[in-house]
Parts: sequence; structure tokens; C-alpha cells
Amino acid sequence: MRGANSYLGSIGTTIFTVMSALAVEHRAVNLGQGFPDTEGPRDVVQAAVDALLDGRNQYPPMPGVPELRQAVAAANRRFYGLDIDWAAQVTVTSGATEAITACLMAVLDPGDEVVLIEPLYDTYVPVVRMLGAIPRIVRLAPPHWDLPREHLAGAFGPKTKAILFNSPMNPCGKVFTAEELGFIAGLLGRWDAYAICDEVYEHLTFDGARHIPLMTLPGMRERTMRIGSAGKTFSLTGWKVGYVTAGAALTPLVQKAHQNLTFTTPPNLQRAVAVGLAKDDAYFASLAGSLQARRDQLADGLASVGLTVLPTRGTYFITTDFAPLGYKGDDVSFCRHITEKAGVTAIPVSAFYDEPRAPDHYARFAFCKKPEVLEEAIGRLRRHFRG
Ligand code: PMP
Ligand code: GLN
Repeated sequence: MRGANSYLGSIGTTIFTVMSALAVEHRAVNLGQGFPDTEGPRDVVQAAVDALLDGRNQYPPMPGVPELRQAVAAANRRFYGLDIDWAAQVTVTSGATEAITACLMAVLDPGDEVVLIEPLYDTYVPVVRMLGAIPRIVRLAPPHWDLPREHLAGAFGPKTKAILFNSPMNPCGKVFTAEELGFIAGLLGRWDAYAICDEVYEHLTFDGARHIPLMTLPGMRERTMRIGSAGKTFSLTGWKVGYVTAGAALTPLVQKAHQNLTFTTPPNLQRAVAVGLAKDDAYFASLAGSLQARRDQLADGLASVGLTVLPTRGTYFITTDFAPLGYKGDDVSFCRHITEKAGVTAIPVSAFYDEPRAPDHYARFAFCKKPEVLEEAIGRLRRHFRG
């Protein structure tokens, strides 16, 4: 039979699926794919149950149910002082994954260039390429993950249509500073480009680090698409409810992309997420506080095993350098090795790089797990590496 899509034929199955399957096969503690092992808030889950039974299970409005769009606008005001018109500027999607694709579709024509920052989430490059656009990738390097401002400036040019980046950043836990965002904003103004801001970990920051949406910077309101995810904010990753806050001129285009991708998102989940976004400040503080404690637990444990633990100020993840263990092999081989031989799964950081010569001695561990699960993983690694 003749070849189907050549690009999709050339790429592999996502690393998260590959490593979770390997974890199941070897009964490993899965600190690979980032998902909490506890349920989200009881009242939010109950709201979804109630909404299933109240007879409103047909197609909801295409841009999202009004309750959730209003709740997203209210959260923008509460957390960031952003004044958003819910009817004109908010779109609900089936997860941030759909939102990323819809936002890229909203601005890109074939041949346009998109600036991306590595390490990057694994759907960015495939979607940019499938839209016929050209990724211009700027690399952050471990262990400091500093923004190389000259390289970033050099990646922009007359063909640049947009930048797509993630803060707080998976896998490295970097939270972009006001100065870095100001630098990016300057480039966007200079080159008249759009920004797609993947902010799914907006509420998961530590040590007093504060997430700043690029959208709050002067001149950025109209050219920015800001993406959030109920999966991360309410520890309900299977729900796949995302939301885009965008300029009023961009929003109809995001919605036209959404109507051609999924059209709508399950109405009961949308209503429940609206309940979640209205939770008091104590909920959001305790979400971050409890994750920070588990970050510290896992960081201390991994250090005691002999890995070098890189600092992380946000997300679900810790990046470690395993070179001090003396393991001979790259990060893919290391992550398979610890899954099979130690019974603990991690994600190779090279999976977050598109180009060759990615760093190959870093592994990412997720700490969004129960303390006893983290303890078990640390114990297994300690027994394996330290005997
Ligand atoms: N962006 C980043 C950086 C992520 O880590 C994830 C992980 N889930 C997503 C987007 C996708 O979010 P969702 O599950 O809401 O589609
Ligand atoms: N965002 C999650 C992670 O980085 C995985 C999501 C997925 O499996 N697609 O682990």
C-alpha cells in the first residue's frame, strides 16, 4: 500500500506512554509520566458526578460552558489582575494538549517560523511541523537552564510568527523571571509576533517563586494566548479540560481551530472545573505547599542515592544528573535500567530535545506521589546503587 503520512510515520510513540508501559511490565514505581496518585478535590469530583445526573449531557456550547469561561476570567483577575471578557476571550478545550494545537493553528500559515525553547514538551515540534511551519529552536542547557538571550534574539526574524514556551517549565522546573519575560516581550513587539504560553503548572510553584503570565506585561494582552489545565490545577490529569485566555481578535481563530479539532469538551467536567477554579486561596496554597514537601522528600532521597539533584522551582518534576553514579550508558538506557533492575521508572531528559546532541545524562523524576510511594522508590534505588 502507498505510504501514509510520512512525518507521522517517522516519529515514535510518546516517551510517557513507552515508559509507563515499561513500568507496568516490571512492576516499577512509576515516577516517569507526570500524574498524581491521589484524587483531586472531593467537591470538584462530586460536582462532576452531580452534573452527570442533572440531565445536561448533550453538546455544550462550542467555546465552553459559560460557568467555566466566567470562572477562568475570574481566576485571571484573582491571581494576575487581568481584566478578561469571558465571552470574548476565553475558550475551553479538551486539555492543554488540544489548546496548544488550537493556538498554533490560530496563528500559523505554512512556511511561518515558530520560536521554541528546549527542553520542550513533546507535542510542540510535531504539531508545528504538521502545520507546515518551521521550528526555530533555542536551547537551554543544564544545570542552570539560563535563557541565552543572544541566541533567542537571533532566532527571531521577519518570518517569525510566534513563540511557544512553557513556564513553569517541564522538565527542568524553571520559572521564567520578570526580566526574562520582559526580554521576550521586547522581541515579540519588535518582530510583531504572537506568544503561545503553556502555563499548565501556573499554580505549582515553590520557595516563594511566583508565576508571571507573559500576558500581564505591557503590550502583550492582544498578542498572547495563555493556556491553563485543570489536570494540573486540580490533580485530575485524566479529565483533559484546558482553557485558553487570548486577545479578543485571536479568540475567534482559536475557537475555529477548536471547532475543527474536538468541537466541545464533556459538559459535566467543565462545570466541575468551574467549581474548582472558585475554590478559596487556601486550596491553591496547600496544593503548592504539599507538592513542595514532596519535592524536598524526593530531592533528599535521590541525593542520598548519589544523584546530583538540580533545583526545581515549579512543576511536578525533578531533573537529576546520574553521571556521579558511574552508570555507563545514556539517559534512555539509564531509565530502562532502573525500571528493569531497580523497579523505579524515570523519563530520559533527552526526550525533551528535538535536535541531535541533546544532553544524555539527565533523568526526570515525578514527585506528585504519596510520601510512602516516594519512600519506596528511594529505598529501591538505594538498595540497587548502594547495596
Ligand atoms: N504542557 C505541558 C508542559 C505538560 O507537561 C502537559 C502535561 N500533561 C501538557 C501540556 C498537557 O496538558 P493536558 O493534560 O491538560 O492536555
Ligand atoms: N505532562 C506529562 C509529563 O510530562 C505527561 C502527559 C502525557 O503523558 N502525555 O509527564
